[in-house]
Amino acid sequence: MVTSRRIAGPAGPLTRRYLVRRRRVVVAQFARQRAHMVARQIAARGLTDARLLAAVRAVPRECFVPPHLRAFAYEDGPLPIAAGQTISQPYIVALMIDAAALAPGDRVLEIGAGSGYAAAVMSRLAAEILAVERHALLAEEARRCLGRLGYGNVAVRHGDGTLGWPEAAPFDAIVVAAGGPEVPGPLRRQLRIGGRLVMPVGARPGSQRLVRLLRRGEEDFSEDALGLVSFVPLIGAEGWAEDPARRDAGRYQARSEVE
Ligand code: SAH
Repeated sequence: MVTSRRIAGPAGPLTRRYLVRRRRVVVAQFARQRAHMVARQIAARGLTDARLLAAVRAVPRECFVPPHLRAFAYEDGPLPIAAGQTISQPYIVALMIDAAALAPGDRVLEIGAGSGYAAAVMSRLAAEILAVERHALLAEEARRCLGRLGYGNVAVRHGDGTLGWPEAAPFDAIVVAAGGPEVPGPLRRQLRIGGRLVMPVGARPGSQRLVRLLRRGEEDFSEDALGLVSFVPLIGAEGWAEDPARRDAGRYQARSEVE
C-alpha cells in the first residue's frame, strides 16, 4: 500500500526524481542536436557570425514546434504549425536575421510571428522585438512559449502586419516572414534611415526572391537579393487578399486581380 502510493502518486519522490532525470537527458539530447544543426545547416552554408550562431544555439526550437513533431525540430526544413502555417527552416531564419544585421541596441519589427521561434532568436541579438501575427491562435501560442522561456523583450500583437506597428516606429530592422507581391509602403515608412528590411517578394504566392532594403534617406532605398525562397503568403491590406471562397483550397489571389 505505502510503496505503491510512493511510486504511483504524481508527487511521489521516486517518480519525481525519475522525471527530473529523464527531462535532463532529453534537454541534453536536444542541445546536442541543436549544436549539430548550427554547424551543419548554418555555419557550413557560410553564415559564420559568432553572435548569430550563439543565439541559434541557445534557443530550444523543439519548444516552438507542435509536440508530435518535436523529434524533427532540428531537421533541415520548415515544419507545419497550427492554422496551416509553418515554422521556417532554421537556415532561412538565420539567413534573414544575418541580413538584417542586428545590433544589441536595435528595435526590431517582425511581421509573421508564427511560432515565435525567429523572434526568440532575434531577442538574443537586439534590445526589443515587436512581432505581429494575423492568426490570433498563433499569436497567443507564441506569446505563451516566449513567456515560458523567459524572452521578456518580445511583444506579440495580433493584427495585420502589412500595416506595421505605427505607434512604435521607426525600427532599426524589419523582418517579414511571409511572402508578398511587394514591400508594403507602411513598412518602408516605418524603417529608420539607416535601417534594414528583409522580406520574400514575388509576383505569385508560394515563390519569392528574398530581398533586403536599406533605407539610405527619406525616399532613398537600395535593394539587393539574397536568393530564391518559398514562404507562406503575406495576407493583408498591403499584401495578398485572401479569397474567402477559395480559402479551404489554400489558394490566394493578388489584390489587383480581385478588385
Ligand atoms: N517567423 C515564424 C514563421 C511563421 S510563417 C516562425 O519563426 O515560426 C509566417 C507567418 O506569417 C504565419 O504565421 C502567417 O499567419 C503570418 N502572416 C501572414 N500574413 C500576415 C500579416 N499580414 N500580418 C501578420 N502575420 C501574417
